[in-house]
Amino acid sequence: MKLFKNATLYSPDYQGIQDVLISGNKIIAIDDAIKVNASHGLQTIDCRGQLLVPGFVDSLVHITGGGGEGGFHTRTPQMPFSDAVKGGVTSLVGVLGTDAVTRSLEDVIAKAKALKHDGLSVYLHTGSYHYPVVNITGSIEKDIMLIDECIGVGEIAIADHRGSQLSWQELARIAAQARVGGMLANKGGIVSIHVGDGDRGLSILHEVAEHSDIPISQFYPTHINRTEKVLAQGIALANAGGYIDFTTSTTEQILADGEVAAPEALKRCLQENVNIAQITMSSDGNASLPVFDSKGRLTDLQIGQVTSLHQAMVDAVKQHGVALNDALKTITSNPADILGLTQKGQIELGFDADVLLLDADTLTINQVFAQGKCLMNAAGEIKQSYFDS
Ligand code: ZN
Repeated sequence: MKLFKNATLYSPDYQGIQDVLISGNKIIAIDDAIKVNASHGLQTIDCRGQLLVPGFVDSLVHITGGGGEGGFHTRTPQMPFSDAVKGGVTSLVGVLGTDAVTRSLEDVIAKAKALKHDGLSVYLHTGSYHYPVVNITGSIEKDIMLIDECIGVGEIAIADHRGSQLSWQELARIAAQARVGGMLANKGGIVSIHVGDGDRGLSILHEVAEHSDIPISQFYPTHINRTEKVLAQGIALANAGGYIDFTTSTTEQILADGEVAAPEALKRCLQENVNIAQITMSSDGNASLPVFDSKGRLTDLQIGQVTSLHQAMVDAVKQHGVALNDALKTITSNPADILGLTQKGQIELGFDADVLLLDADTLTINQVFAQGKCLMNAAGEIKQSYFDS
């Protein structure tokens, strides 16, 4: 058992100064003064001057790497375990991405299991950018139902020259399979959508909602801060009941090319009265961040960082005046709700003991606990992983 004493609790909503007791991998008590009659096996952690918040939920990470848009030498490396811990990410969703030829879902599952062994909660989507959808067991439905870690499909690419240029009917069938698989397995069954900068934008999602029985909330489109134009379409989608996700990994050049930084995009949505429950941020960690010139030639390629998720939350609060509870929701309870992770993203009784301690002033991550186990201690020491890979 671990007793967190005198923490300023954001559950992610502000709850005042509280004690939080965890036993094994669960939160078992939250009160303003918890006393435990245990002579042994209790560790007390003094949290004065610190915020206690839920471990971050990163809904999109290329855990086995991604990219390759500039040839084989530009394939990005896999995500080291320590990157997630440093960034306070205790739950994450692994995806394949552009390259489903030299990279495989089998590898994503193996990496997910390795990260789970080290203490993280790891899920994955079947499929890649492409249609027909790559899968393991024969169909999207079967993958979601029969593979423990599999909770949805994606990221399916729309409005992108790297995508399969699929029709709304094809996308509707993908969503139908994910929806039924999710229902039968009691999982989210969400369709993660990679949104490119193509002219059609988000129109295909509205077409599916208009012409089929699939609700717009079945989709979870990301990179909505890619351009001003996509952001405006994202706000319209949210107002129609859809979810929108902002990518926190970026580069100077991508911002100069017209991307809206994720914290700025969040502030703008709140100013336009978008319901906070429909907005999330994800890191796109270990993705490639390619820049193409007007002729479609690759001119620059950097790598996404899982740690950018925490930094974007801090920037939203410190630079853009977003309320801390709102900024936290976009990387904790909101993605957990959308993905159907019912034990994640909140400091609540019975939830998984994924807990971060942050400096109350700077919001720096001081300690990381995942499912009750300490992954980073107050000295900044990170739990050993076999190869840190
Ligand atoms: Zn993407």
